[in-house]
Amino acid sequence: MCGRLVQAPTEIEFQNEVQKTAMEAAQRIAPHRSRLDVCTESVLSNPRAYSLFLDVDGTLLELAATPNSIHIPEGLSDLLQLLMTRLDGAVAIISGRLISEIDQIVRPIILPASGVHGSELRGAATGAIEQISPTLPADVVASLKKLVPRFPGVIVEPKGSGLAIHYRLAPHAEADILATIAHILKTHEGAFELLPGKRLFEIIPAGLSKGTALAALSQLPAFRGRVPIMIGDDIGDETAFGVAEEMRGFGLRVAGEYFHPDVADFSGPRSVMEWLEQIADRPVRDSARS
Ligand SMILES: [Mg+2]
Repeated sequence: MCGRLVQAPTEIEFQNEVQKTAMEAAQRIAPHRSRLDVCTESVLSNPRAYSLFLDVDGTLLELAATPNSIHIPEGLSDLLQLLMTRLDGAVAIISGRLISEIDQIVRPIILPASGVHGSELRGAATGAIEQISPTLPADVVASLKKLVPRFPGVIVEPKGSGLAIHYRLAPHAEADILATIAHILKTHEGAFELLPGKRLFEIIPAGLSKGTALAALSQLPAFRGRVPIMIGDDIGDETAFGVAEEMRGFGLRVAGEYFHPDVADFSGPRSVMEWLEQIADRPVRDSARS
């Protein structure tokens, strides 16, 4: 008798309950997924209310053993051009690379960009590159270059006002590289900061970051008043995520060596490209084949 008092759920109620449980489980497993969904829906509904800032390595491109051995996905420049049209010019690259290198990667198009973690800025596609900080002192570059013959595989890459030391091919050199950098930072107290990355260390001018780059680019006419979206994969992108989120925008993380998949919004550069194609409202590779 008692059992008859409990009514069995209808099929629709049962399906709703299953869906709700699945959504709650998905939230627990991937709490950032809903943030990406919200961002996607918002941009698609009104693209010209948003600005897009993109890191390069590990975000648009898969990470490579050396900075020059990258693979550039087919259709990347076409996709970026479509995004520029869709967002009415509010698309910029924010990278640790030099702007001249960024131009080679996205050519033939030229985008607004910041290079070397905020040390270089180019506001408009036709504008000149502005150096925000002076070139690194020669003694800093010279003392770091001495690491190269000591540790085969270490690559020292001067980048104007910054410098990157790649040790992906010589991971055992990490402690010695750090000791050399510590000595430099002490000698030039307050002038530079150490930025660790994925099997790389960078020395950048103190006070500059991808966050200062995003803030500066956001003041330019094409970007002003828009909600920023920053996509990146590394510790150096955190400052830009912070600035974007302070502006009620989105910091979207790409899984890789820094962000674990369960806290990331994208599983890797491939999924970033697919999302960008969705935002551009056109599958570029399909259209290229047709
Ligand atoms: Mg990166």
